[in-house]
Amino acid sequence: MDQRKMAVELLDFLERSPSPCHAVANMAQLLEENGFQRLGEMERWELHPGGGYYVVRNDSALICFRIPEGAWKGFHIVASHSDSPTFKIKENPEMESDGYVKLNVERYGGMLCAPWLDRPLSVAGRVAVREKGAVRTRLVCVDRDLLLIPNLAVHMNRQANEGISYNAQKDMLPLLGTAEAKGSFWKVVAEAAGVEEEAILGHDLFLYNRQKGCIWGAGEEFLSCGRLDDLQCGFASLKGFLAGPKERWAAVACVLDNEEVGSSSRQGASSTFLRDVLWRINCGLGGDEEDYLCRIAGSFLISADNAHAVHPNYGEKADPVNRPKLNGGIVIKFSANQRYCTDAYSAAVMKELCREAEVPYQVFTNRSDMLGGSTLGNISVSQVPVATVDIGLPQLAMHSPYETAGVRDTGYLIRALERFFV
Ligand code: ZN
Repeated sequence: MDQRKMAVELLDFLERSPSPCHAVANMAQLLEENGFQRLGEMERWELHPGGGYYVVRNDSALICFRIPEGAWKGFHIVASHSDSPTFKIKENPEMESDGYVKLNVERYGGMLCAPWLDRPLSVAGRVAVREKGAVRTRLVCVDRDLLLIPNLAVHMNRQANEGISYNAQKDMLPLLGTAEAKGSFWKVVAEAAGVEEEAILGHDLFLYNRQKGCIWGAGEEFLSCGRLDDLQCGFASLKGFLAGPKERWAAVACVLDNEEVGSSSRQGASSTFLRDVLWRINCGLGGDEEDYLCRIAGSFLISADNAHAVHPNYGEKADPVNRPKLNGGIVIKFSANQRYCTDAYSAAVMKELCREAEVPYQVFTNRSDMLGGSTLGNISVSQVPVATVDIGLPQLAMHSPYETAGVRDTGYLIRALERFFV
């Protein structure tokens, strides 16, 4: 596999995916191009051996699956998430002061605030519109430099370089224009969505960083872009999934939303979305509840969410022994407190998979005196109790609007998942 080519494809996918809804739409398009059939959750499903299908819930989560040809034993699943920390546009967002119009926003997830300042931003997401007497949703991306959150000059805050604490209601409001811009925000959004301004009844709009992704470093060994956590894993999951049908297992890839805010929405990992789809596959192929429980007991889930690489300037923040490196391969994550689901068995299965796929793996654990983050694996398992390994790709600056990863690692995960799914 040409790992650089995969990195270039990844950057293209990330740039076309400024919001979770866009990521899901791009994945759906790739599935359509590969002959997958879209199923609606409101319809009865007719599934056929050898068939490939996908379901989208609420525009921002997607589950695709392939039905095995013959007798089958259970599910091989990979899960990632479609959302990244950002700022959400609030209702009635325009605020006027001192001849400016700025936008009222609120935090979505736990972002690094500082890197959002002094760079061109715009908005993307979806709007809900009145259309022929019904309410429909439309994706929208304002594809131009529209907003910016200006820093306060150092002359007005002499302590700026000693550390700033950011107040989301004061420090993080993006500037839209001068006083003449009043009333223009919804016009801009309506135009980008191709609808009448009056037709917009609701919105899930988020800020996104306009800076394009790039490959850099002395040997072009790094790449940087927004939303690597977790669309790098989402992209690799889908690529691996598309590699081919399983003989005795139903192959499933899911990209769930709202991981950054606890996963407890109807399209998040703590919802019944994955369980509903697995149950419908089981029943659609003539299985009963007993069959379902047998299949679940034999199934395996790879929860793929990015991991922290050791930082070049903060080596002391990493575990003294387990120190993931960029381009060092898939990171298997461990936590005694089960913030990660990995256990002896699932780690061993993952290591064997990497060995067979001839890709390197490494290990992440938090320092024993640091809490660290969590992910979707242990939440998803509460709905679908299958053997699970938590993995990710190593990255720096997690939750910045411009994150950094290794050029080779996406290809490693694709190759391992091809092995898992073939
Ligand atoms: Zn993540």
